[in-house]
Amino acid sequence: MDPIRRNILATGAAATAMAAASRVFAQQAGQGGAATLVIRGGIVHSVDNPRGEARDIVVKGDTIADIVAPGSVTNVDAEFLDAARRLVVPGLINAHTHSHGGLSKGVGDLWSLELLLNAAPWIGGSRRAEDKYLAALINAIEHVEKGSTACYDLFFEFPTPTLEGIEAVASAYEKVGLRAVIAPMVADLTFYQSVPGLIEALPEDARPHASELRMSSADASLAALRMIAKRWSYPADRLRLGIAPTIPQHCTREFMIGCRDIAREHNVAMQSHVSEPRYLSASSFRFAGMSMTETMDACGIVGPWFSAAHAVWINDKDMVLLAGKGAQVAHNPGSNLRLGSGVAAVREYVRHGIPVGIGTDGSASSDNQNMFEAMRLAAFVSRIRGQPPQEWISTGEAFGMATEGSARVLGMQDFIGRIAKGYKADLVLIDLDSVNYVPLNNATNQLVFAEDGTAVDKVLIGGRLVVSGGRAIGIDRAALARQAGEAVERLSALNADARRFAESIEPMISNFCRGLADDEAIHRLHRDIPAR
Ligand SMILES: [Zn+2]
Repeated sequence: MDPIRRNILATGAAATAMAAASRVFAQQAGQGGAATLVIRGGIVHSVDNPRGEARDIVVKGDTIADIVAPGSVTNVDAEFLDAARRLVVPGLINAHTHSHGGLSKGVGDLWSLELLLNAAPWIGGSRRAEDKYLAALINAIEHVEKGSTACYDLFFEFPTPTLEGIEAVASAYEKVGLRAVIAPMVADLTFYQSVPGLIEALPEDARPHASELRMSSADASLAALRMIAKRWSYPADRLRLGIAPTIPQHCTREFMIGCRDIAREHNVAMQSHVSEPRYLSASSFRFAGMSMTETMDACGIVGPWFSAAHAVWINDKDMVLLAGKGAQVAHNPGSNLRLGSGVAAVREYVRHGIPVGIGTDGSASSDNQNMFEAMRLAAFVSRIRGQPPQEWISTGEAFGMATEGSARVLGMQDFIGRIAKGYKADLVLIDLDSVNYVPLNNATNQLVFAEDGTAVDKVLIGGRLVVSGGRAIGIDRAALARQAGEAVERLSALNADARRFAESIEPMISNFCRGLADDEAIHRLHRDIPAR
């Protein structure tokens, strides 16, 4: 028996959950063709209508077949899902996350990005395939329970991606039912190598270790990516491969060009962290003589298949470039605040015509996978930039970015991100009796400003019920907590030396990168570094 189904049966989930899940599994097993499910009695959300509209949603197989007047379906063979007192919204889509962060929430506090990168070897080191599965499973559960139905996962393995690691992540997503782009996050330079002068600035006794650390060679990582791309066999509408050269300064140009060639050959999406903190933006001008966006464009990476994550310190020229090439931005306001990276100029992206999606980033840098919170922060941070209210990001815009905008970033805009005929039935049923909606004044404003994920009742992905009563179906919570606790204990012991080393050089790392960010010579030379 399918292990997912076995788990559902074992945990004795609600009868409605079991019925709907069985229906989908029967379909998958080819027993009876595309069954009809009617989500009956709900209020379908629309940004244009503050109270939504009473509508029944007819789902055939994994797709929305029709949206009809309440009670108008009389098909006796159809199954019905009661949505009374429920607001039906499209599943939120996380445009930027890291599944390996699933075991790392709360590990740090006063960390800027450079301190997080310095800590990465102990946060994510020594992991076995089952740890990678567990981290992705924890992330996926959090996604669906907080109303997300798809994510763009920049998944990292040290020192190089492996088929086994990718399959571990994919099987976690299959278990929970989450749709995803899984993009191995790759580099051929370490953090210490990526900042010229940094190793020399470290205390003498720290230099040997910092300079001896190595990623796999470019050739080895490219060979691994090529092999993974060739063997990829998951359904393209469920799990897609992507390729993520992590940060331009962490990659040689030859390596980035190699990544691009594989991505184009296999027609897969690319995403990179671009101009996230100021020190990286400044160092790009200093060491490459051009911005990070221009560096990536020089490698042929910027195109409609490419999204720039964060993009806090991009300038007007970069925005023209991204817009002109059809690239997108994945905006991560929570992570940008948590790491002190800055506030992205989202209104300007929109004005330039750049599609914008919203992400949470990984749980090592923003600690949760709550897209309601990410939407709220996207709306909020747009309001502290000194612009007049009409330039702020409205709740409707934030909601659109977290659904249709993020769908564009995943390259899945033709079938997810909207409640519409022909789109996949990725739907979230919000409990209107939650205090978040009492009274219901304006559904969009309350979804963005008041919702914290606690009103998520049911979630369907491709017509399959994956959350019922706010809980992911088929998950043994006690076993999950036990396994996560054991993994963290084992990994902490294995990574203790790496942790000691990283902590011993934190002040030097921070000072060096801050100096780079504020280097006046760079700013005099390149006046087009934005001064936000
Ligand atoms: Zn990230």
